[in-house]
Amino acid sequence: FLVLGIESSCDDTAVAVLEEPRRIRASLVMSQVEDHAPHGGVVPELASRRHQEAIMGLVRRCLWQAGVSNPMRQLSLIAVTAGPGLMGSLLVGVMAAKGLSQGWEVPIMGVNHMEGHLFANVLAHPDLKPPFLCLIVSGGHTEVHLVRSFGDYRLLGATRDDAVGEAYDKVAKMLGLGYPGGPVIDRLAREGDPDRYQLPVPFKGSSQVEFSFSGLKTAVLWLVRREGEALSVPDLCASFQRAAVESLVSKVKLAMNQTGVRTVAVSGGVAANRELRRRLEDLAGSSGGRVRVYLPPLELCTDNAAMVAAAGLWAYRRGVRDDLSFRADPSWELSR
Ligand code: ATP
Ligand code: FE
Repeated sequence: FLVLGIESSCDDTAVAVLEEPRRIRASLVMSQVEDHAPHGGVVPELASRRHQEAIMGLVRRCLWQAGVSNPMRQLSLIAVTAGPGLMGSLLVGVMAAKGLSQGWEVPIMGVNHMEGHLFANVLAHPDLKPPFLCLIVSGGHTEVHLVRSFGDYRLLGATRDDAVGEAYDKVAKMLGLGYPGGPVIDRLAREGDPDRYQLPVPFKGSSQVEFSFSGLKTAVLWLVRREGEALSVPDLCASFQRAAVESLVSKVKLAMNQTGVRTVAVSGGVAANRELRRRLEDLAGSSGGRVRVYLPPLELCTDNAAMVAAAGLWAYRRGVRDDLSFRADPSWELSR
């Protein structure tokens, strides 16, 4: 059973072939980072143009790499991201997938991009079984879900404003560090002193699972203005990172206490963050085996199509069926 995954929700065009259940035969990601970098963020119109240029060639290369010479015979499912994301970007993947599905007579499935991020962990860890908590930390989302079973998700809490990845990107922009900001800040933070600047940890005392990163971002902006030439960029990166990660870790602990579920799977681009990974591994390590933390390998944290193929495969196996009538939905929520 081979699944072709297609992902084009934001600024990465990605195609993968997954062999049931967990063997990634090929996974290609074409990043548009260099096209968007001069603008300090993703330009939607540019993103859809780049997807359109890239997608069919990427499908062809991926099938070739995966040893699929006769897709009509060999593929059993096409899974494509149908939302959430940028409409113009989503449409390119969805329409390509629909065309291929009809031409090859292969079933198609529209996949939620956030469920895809969740499935990065399912792909990487065969022993991960519901119920578990899922922390999704990406460029557009910061949310905690309770996974009661695959396909049954309950939102426990989310950000009230910016996503954590977005805060990384905006702080990096203020400091002239380029786009995307996460990896650069993560790297500089290692050389900095996190005690140097005092920054607020959002919703530190609140008894709800909730996040906020716009106040933290503004606090950084004031600090940059106040310090002027005296500013130490590595120290600021370390201080910002500590506050951001502290808020994520404290809310994971709160969600564990509220639900009694002590297994957490973390995914999305910010799951690549060293400090977050270290703090969560420490949490598991010091729990005497009670807390379990699952993290995807770095290449499955950021957008890729293997995770989309996996989400589609698992949905198909639990009986979900789609036809060509589904639509791209830029604001598709994973759970209520
Ligand atoms: P969404 O999935 O919400 O639609 P997206 O797909 O654009 O958003 P991802 O590709 O999952 O987001 O993640 C990209 C984000 O992850 C960027 O904001 C980037 O700065 C951040 N990021 C990547 N690596 C790191 C890191 N090491 N530390 C912190 N942030 C990181
Ligand atoms: Fe994403």
